[in-house]
Amino acid sequence: MQLKRETMNSQFFLAKRKLLNQREVTSAHALKANEQLSPDELASLNWEKRKELIRFVFSHNVFYQKKYKAAGFELGDLKSPEDFEKIPPLEKQEIRDNLESMVSHGFNASSLPSSTTGGSTGVPLKTYCDPSAPGSEISWRTLNWWGTDISENSAYLYRAIPSAKSQMMQRVFLWPSKRNWLAAQDMDEASMELFYRQVSKSKPNYLIGYVGAIDIFAGFMEKYNYQLDSVKAVWTTSAPLPEGKRAYLQSVFNAPTLTQYGSCEFYWVAAECLKQNGMHVASDIRHVEVVEGNEPVPVEEFGDLLITDLCNHAFPLIRYRLGDRGRLLKKSCSCGLPFGLMDYVKGRISDKIHLPDGGAIPGEYWTTIFDDHTDSVKSFQVHQFADYSITVYYESLQQESCAKAVAAVRAKLTAKLGSAVSLKFEPKKINVNDNGKTRFVVSEIRS
Ligand SMILES: [Zn+2]
Repeated sequence: MQLKRETMNSQFFLAKRKLLNQREVTSAHALKANEQLSPDELASLNWEKRKELIRFVFSHNVFYQKKYKAAGFELGDLKSPEDFEKIPPLEKQEIRDNLESMVSHGFNASSLPSSTTGGSTGVPLKTYCDPSAPGSEISWRTLNWWGTDISENSAYLYRAIPSAKSQMMQRVFLWPSKRNWLAAQDMDEASMELFYRQVSKSKPNYLIGYVGAIDIFAGFMEKYNYQLDSVKAVWTTSAPLPEGKRAYLQSVFNAPTLTQYGSCEFYWVAAECLKQNGMHVASDIRHVEVVEGNEPVPVEEFGDLLITDLCNHAFPLIRYRLGDRGRLLKKSCSCGLPFGLMDYVKGRISDKIHLPDGGAIPGEYWTTIFDDHTDSVKSFQVHQFADYSITVYYESLQQESCAKAVAAVRAKLTAKLGSAVSLKFEPKKINVNDNGKTRFVVSEIRS
């Protein structure tokens, strides 16, 4: 078991958080308790949750009732974990075509939190979340694996700095810990210098952000020989962490640099521990399978990842083909956690886009540009040429609304890039390649 951190700060934080959100703290304790299960007990919990979810959709979800009926799969067919593998997978296109009927009885789509994603392949998609499912408390557990704690000070390098109202809310929720932000979409030397000064004072225990954004900030720190001695862990998200990049970031921040696997549809699937042996699958809340087509592949072999969210009853995602390739690992980890291991997911590598003044915009930002237009744009790719010019290729889903979406994204990007970078939009038939190697944000400029 990794270091258990129960500081006074943490106790105080949980007590205060309980007053604000009882469900969240109860859920955090339940998740933490699952670390004490044996692997067999965990497998049993996972299987019980899968059965319960399937029973639920047979009585509460029109989409799955029809889908399973058409496939000849009946509730009585699910007797053993092997039977679960006969359930037809859920494809992205089905979500797009059945968004409303995938919402279960007893839930109202208009009041559900939703999530949109550029996903692994540049295919924008909207899904709904279950408000009663575990959320950020999943990451609290993992922060403890990394020798830090949600009650500690932190620094975020994400798409944008939250609004003043959101920052105020977060201050209330996080007090007495402090959080600083750096907007990944706006990383010039001035903003990074300001951020560095802020974090030099607040002394964050951990950094979290897009791999690309943390990489750019690391380059800035290295250039000026800056150091952040308070950082105990660097938490990278949204893209794979190549080993060379990990080694570089660990040397700049002098702290373990860690990765986790999740997506907009599944906030959390797996995360590594400090042993960095692969990622521990959070099998108490997600079920991960690997298939080739629809056939299961043996442990250690690569295939399409199918993920089942064991906690989302509002908008069930059962054996969902997320679009990433991966594999489960046989080895166990000496950290003592009961959660099995999966390999690092190699997909979703996005280049950063370079600016003529030496600045850069992380690839992860570009993956989100069509997030507000999931009904209009089928897929897109961003390509930067050696002369800094950028072409956004897109495939429309609905001609008229796509034209509006392109106009809106063009205006947003033009405002960001100014006149220094030529920007073009071109319709194109895009062959989405799910083999985990396709980059959909590509820059011909190398730093
Ligand atoms: Zn481990």
